[in-house]
Amino acid sequence: MKLSKRINQINESITLKLNAKAVELKKSGKTIYNLTAGQLPFRPHEKLVEGIIAETKFLKSFQYAPVTGVAELRELALGNFMKARKLDESVKDQLSCIVSNGAKHSLTNILAALVDKGDEVIVIAPYWLSYPELIKLWGGVPVEVIAERYNGFIPLMEELESKITSKTKAIIINSPNNPTGIYYSESWMRDFAQMIKKYPDVTIVSDEIYYDLAYFDPTPTYHYQVDPELLSRTVILDGISKNLACTGLRIGYTFAPVSLVPYLSRLQGQTTSSANSLVQNALVGMDRQTIKEFLTPIKALLRKNAEILRDLMHEYDLGEAFYQVNGAFYFVLDLAKTPYFNGVDSKTVDHSISICSEILDETGVALVPLSDFGVANAARISLVLSERDIEKALRLVFTFLTKKV
Ligand code: PLP
Repeated sequence: MKLSKRINQINESITLKLNAKAVELKKSGKTIYNLTAGQLPFRPHEKLVEGIIAETKFLKSFQYAPVTGVAELRELALGNFMKARKLDESVKDQLSCIVSNGAKHSLTNILAALVDKGDEVIVIAPYWLSYPELIKLWGGVPVEVIAERYNGFIPLMEELESKITSKTKAIIINSPNNPTGIYYSESWMRDFAQMIKKYPDVTIVSDEIYYDLAYFDPTPTYHYQVDPELLSRTVILDGISKNLACTGLRIGYTFAPVSLVPYLSRLQGQTTSSANSLVQNALVGMDRQTIKEFLTPIKALLRKNAEILRDLMHEYDLGEAFYQVNGAFYFVLDLAKTPYFNGVDSKTVDHSISICSEILDETGVALVPLSDFGVANAARISLVLSERDIEKALRLVFTFLTKKV
């Protein structure tokens, strides 16, 4: 078969390969600590499970939903979003919610609607690996801005601004962030709002899928809260995958200016018809209180695991690679700042994949090498295991990385 050039441009996920290896090793009887999880390893809130069961009684739950989503859910999700971000009621008429098959699908739709061949989209590295792949899928060019660990993975505003050209169509902001586990401060968002105001043709895609997983105060702020006028060119991505531990149910929300709805609707109507009806119907009636209740013990666990990580990094003398996480459930381990790298070239060669593979073989701990996430010689640690397991797993990894001393 002669395949398209487009499909050949999409990279295979290394994470999935390593995951498959971890599964194989586990099958062979080896104790494996999987720190690659991009999801909360818990059952969702019982209220949602009960809602899904109850909705199975109705025929409409097995039939197509309206293309842009079940009307009551769109209304509820928009109301919940406005309440959580403390937006004034006066902006409600400007915005609409579209329900898709996960936030990844929402992102695919919005990039399809924005990006023409050769258009540039700015992404902040380290980034979630799907951003550049999806930008390329639509013929766009991902333009990277590096956020350095020693700046707490916060991009410098002048660097961000220096990447904007006449070809820039959009900029993707992800706060709280995958893979760094940080979120941007209110003052950063103020500066960002001021800077982006100068470029009226640039759309801001704000990926807020981890909004509810901020485990220190104050909670995340966004540029459009500082300057609501920017809502007219902002598209917000959200969903239930992370905050309700439902990655498999595939529900994502796009909050966008009303004028975009007919275009996103046209595209979604021709590609997937709608998101699944059963879950949409079950979500109607679930307010933000449910999410809060569900996440309270989970956030306590993440806070505790972040403390364990900090203490162990100091115990193993890895303080140089430490920074404080405050959201999502990840940490970027700068492998180059560990004794394992003594005498190893970390400037021109990226060893992340081979090191993560070696760590898995030697210690049974699976990590995500960050080569696909726009950062070399680094690995992502997921902080969602139990306190006992995370301590055991981190001790194994840190012992391995410091044994060359
Ligand atoms: N955005 C980020 C930053 C993510 O990490 C993920 C999932 O890992 C998504 C979006 C996609 O979420 P969904 O499961 O709703 O497609």
